[in-house]
Amino acid sequence: MAELTPMMKQYNQMKAEHPDCILMFRLGDFYEMFNEDAKLVSKELDLTLTTRDRNKPAEERTPMCGVPYHSVEAYLARLIAKGYKVAICEQMEDPALAKGLVDRDIIRIVTPGTVIDASMLEEGKNNFIAAVCRTGSGAGACFCDISTGEVSATAFSGRDWQEHLFNELGRFAPREAVLDTAAWEDVELREFLRLRLDCRCELGREEDFAPDRAMETARKQFRTGLEDLPGEAEAAVRACGGLLIYLYETQKTDLSHLTAFRYYTGGEFMELDLTARRNLELTETMRGKEKKGSLLWVLDKTRTAMGHRLIRSWMERPLLSPVQVNKRLDAVEDLVGDAIARQEIAECLREVTDLERLIGRIVYGTAGARDLVALSGGLGKLPRLRALLAPFCSSLLTVLRESIDDLQDLREHIARALVEEPPFSVREGGFIKAGYNSDVDYLRDIMTNGKSMVASIEQSEREKTGIKNLKVGYNKVFGYYIEVSKANYDLVPDTYIRKQTLVNCERFITQELKDMEHTILSAQDRIVALEYELFCALRETAAKEVSRIQQTAAAVAQVDVLTSFATVAAAGGYCKPTVDLSDKLDITEGRHPVVEKVLKDALFVPNDVHMDAGENLVAIITGPNMAGKSTYMRQTALIVLMAQMGAFVPARSAHVGIVDRVFTRVGASDDLAAGQSTFMVEMTEVAELLRNATAKSLLILDEIGRGTSTYDGMSIARAVLEYCADKRRLGCKTLFATHYHELTCLEGQIPGVKNYNVAAKKRKDDVIFLRKIVPGPADQSYGIEVAGLAGVPSRVIDRARDILSELEAEGCPAPAPAAPAADSGQVSFLDMGASEVADRLRQVDIDTLTPIEAMNLLYELKKKL
Ligand code: ADP
Repeated sequence: MAELTPMMKQYNQMKAEHPDCILMFRLGDFYEMFNEDAKLVSKELDLTLTTRDRNKPAEERTPMCGVPYHSVEAYLARLIAKGYKVAICEQMEDPALAKGLVDRDIIRIVTPGTVIDASMLEEGKNNFIAAVCRTGSGAGACFCDISTGEVSATAFSGRDWQEHLFNELGRFAPREAVLDTAAWEDVELREFLRLRLDCRCELGREEDFAPDRAMETARKQFRTGLEDLPGEAEAAVRACGGLLIYLYETQKTDLSHLTAFRYYTGGEFMELDLTARRNLELTETMRGKEKKGSLLWVLDKTRTAMGHRLIRSWMERPLLSPVQVNKRLDAVEDLVGDAIARQEIAECLREVTDLERLIGRIVYGTAGARDLVALSGGLGKLPRLRALLAPFCSSLLTVLRESIDDLQDLREHIARALVEEPPFSVREGGFIKAGYNSDVDYLRDIMTNGKSMVASIEQSEREKTGIKNLKVGYNKVFGYYIEVSKANYDLVPDTYIRKQTLVNCERFITQELKDMEHTILSAQDRIVALEYELFCALRETAAKEVSRIQQTAAAVAQVDVLTSFATVAAAGGYCKPTVDLSDKLDITEGRHPVVEKVLKDALFVPNDVHMDAGENLVAIITGPNMAGKSTYMRQTALIVLMAQMGAFVPARSAHVGIVDRVFTRVGASDDLAAGQSTFMVEMTEVAELLRNATAKSLLILDEIGRGTSTYDGMSIARAVLEYCADKRRLGCKTLFATHYHELTCLEGQIPGVKNYNVAAKKRKDDVIFLRKIVPGPADQSYGIEVAGLAGVPSRVIDRARDILSELEAEGCPAPAPAAPAADSGQVSFLDMGASEVADRLRQVDIDTLTPIEAMNLLYELKKKL
C-alpha cells in the first residue's frame, strides 16, 4: 500500500475520533467525504462518487464525494433528516498562508436533535432533544430545544412510571435522545423511541448522569431554576447533566442561551397518551398526518413563529389548575371583547420576527447581519404591541405587557450600526452604516476618493517643485508614480526616487505617494476585516441580552396564542366555559370544532352533554352507523381539552369540571402496520385505559368489543361498562357508543348509567339522520338501511331483511359472525357464475364492516364477476 498523504492521515485521525459521524472535511471550496462515508453519502444524496487518485490501481483509490461549501446546508439538512450525525471539519487557517498541512478541526457535530440553522428547522415546530436516565424505581427525563433555548425536565416514579415517561416522550416527540446505560438497555424504551417516535438514540456517558456531576454541570449552565428543587427532582437533574455534556461535545460552544432550567411535575399538565392525541386529531389527522383537519388547524391563527410553536405546546398540555385556566380565559375574553384592537394586535404580531431562534443563533455565533437586522426589526414592533395591550386589564395580559421589553437600547444600537438590507455574508463587508465607526468611514472615503487623493498629491507636488506639467500616474508594475518631463529634470527634488526612464520623461516615487498607495490598496481588505470585527462585537452585545430577549419572546408568544384563541372564538361563535374543580360536565349546544368547519353544505347540528359524578356518569350511546356518535363523543372530549387549554369552546354554554385525563378508544389504529390484530390493539388500549383512569378522568369508548365474535364482544363491552360505572372501581365519566343494543338494558340496573341515541328517522326503506342526541336507547339499528345507502345491491338488502325478521321472530341474538347467510343457499351468487364471490362473502364478518369497508368490498366483488 502506498504511503498516505499527510492530509489523508489528518482525515483518518479525525474520522477515528468520530466513528459514528459522517465526516465533512473542508478542502478549499468543498466539503469532501472519503471512503465508506463517500459511498454512503453519494448514495443517500445522489452525488457522483469520484476518486482522488485516478492514476493509482483501482483497489488503491480513495472513493470521494463532495459538496460545495456555500450550499452545504441543503445537503446537511437531507442527511440529518435521514437520521445521520455529521461532523463538520473546517480549515482553521487560510490555506494560502498555511505552512505545510492546513490546520483543521471539527467545529460542530450536527445531529437531528441539535440543528439550529433556520433552513433545517420547521418554523412552527419545536425541535427537541431528550435525555433519559433510569433510577431504581423510575426515570428522569430532560427536554431541550437548542434553537429556542427551552429546557424542561421531570422525574417519573410510582407504579406506572413507564407509561408516564412514554406519554411525555410522545408529547415532546424528540428527534434525538441521549440515554444512560440502563435506559439504553431498556429494549422497550428504545423500540418506542425508534419505532413510534422515529427518534435517534444515543448512548451517553454514565458518569455524566451521576447526581453530583450532573448538578455541577447544571449549576454552571443555568442562571435560574435550580433553587429549592424537591428531592425527587434528582433524576431530572441527572438527565439534564447527561444532556448538557452531550450538547457541549457536539456543539462545541457554551450554549449560554440555555439560561433557565424548568423542573415540572405531573400535576401541572393534563397527560395525554399517544392514542388520545392521535384519536382526537389534536395536531394532525389520523390518516394523512396533516395539520389540515386537525384541531390545531382550527385554532391556530397565530402570527409569529413563536406563537405557532407555543400553541402546539399548549394544545398538547392542557392545564389542571382552574386558576391558571381562568387567567387564560379572562385574557381571551378581554381580546374577544375588542375586535379592532384584536385585529391591530394580530397585524402588529405579523411583523414580529422569531426572536427566540434569532437570539439562539446570535448566542451561537452563527447569526449574520441579516439576523441582527431581523431582530431589531422585530423589536421595533414591540412598543406598538405594548401600547395596543395597554387598555386590557385582565391579569394575564397585564403581566404579559409588562414582560415585553422592547430593548430600545439594543434596537437603536443595531439600527445605528447596520444598513437596512445587509448582504448575505458578513465576510465581505458592505453592511456597516456610515457614521457608525470613524475608521470604516475613513477607509470607505479612501476607496471612493482614491482619485481625488491622487489629484491633491499632484497639485501639492506641482506647487512644491514648480513643475507645472508634473503628473501622478498608475501602472501595474510600479503602482503610483510621479512623471516629470525631460525639460524639468533639474527641478526634481532629492526626495524623489527614480524608478523608470522613458524617452521624454522620467518616473519617480516618493514616500508619501507609496503610503497613499498602500492606504488605497489595502483599504478594501481592512474594511472587510474591520466590518467583521464590528459585527462580531455587536453580535456579542446582543448575545448579552439573551435573558431579556427570551423573556420578551415568551410573552409575545403568549399574547399571540391568546389573540389566536380570541380570533377563532369571535369568528366561530364560541363561548367562555366555566372551569372549576366541580364534577360537572355540562355543555349546551356543543359542536365539533373541526367537523363544523369541513361540512360544506350541511349545517352542523349542535348537541348537549350533561354529565356528573352521580346519576349521569355513564352515557350509553346507540344509533345507526354514520349517525354521528363518534363525532359527538369526540366533540365532547375536544371541548373539555379546549377549555383546559384556556380557549373558548364551540358551544352556547359550557361548564367543565377539571378532568385529569382524557382516554379514548376509537376506531382502527395504525398499529395494524406493526403486525397486531385490530382486536389485540383494541384490548391493549382498553387495558391501559382501565389501569390508568381515575374518577376524575373522561373516557371515550367507541364500539368496544366489535373486533371479536358477538357474544365475546358484548360480554367484554358490558364488563368494561360496569367497571367504568362502578364507583368502587373507577366511577368516571364515560361516553360509551355501542352496537350492542342489549347493553341498553343496563339503565336502571346500574346507577349512573343513562341511555342516549342519535335520532334517525325511517322514510320508506331509507333512513334520515337527524344528528340529534336524545335520551333513551335507539329503537333500531338501521344497519340494513345504511347498507342500502352505501350501495349494497337490493337483492342482498332484501335477503338481509328476511333474515332479520326470522331472527327477531326467533328472539335469538344476532348470529355469530362465522355463520354466513349464504350457507342457507338462498342467496347464491353461483347463478352469476362466480363462486369466488360467494367464497369471499362467506369469509366476511358483516358485523364488523364499516360503510367504507362495505363499499370497498363491493368494488372488489364486482371486479371478480
Ligand atoms: P358514527 O360514529 O355514528 O358512525 P360519525 O360520528 O362518524 O358517525 O358521523 C358520520 C358523519 O356525519 C360525520 O362525518 C359528519 O360529516 C356527519 N355528522 C356527524 N355529526 C354531525 C352533526 N352533529 N351535525 C352534522 N353532521 C354531522
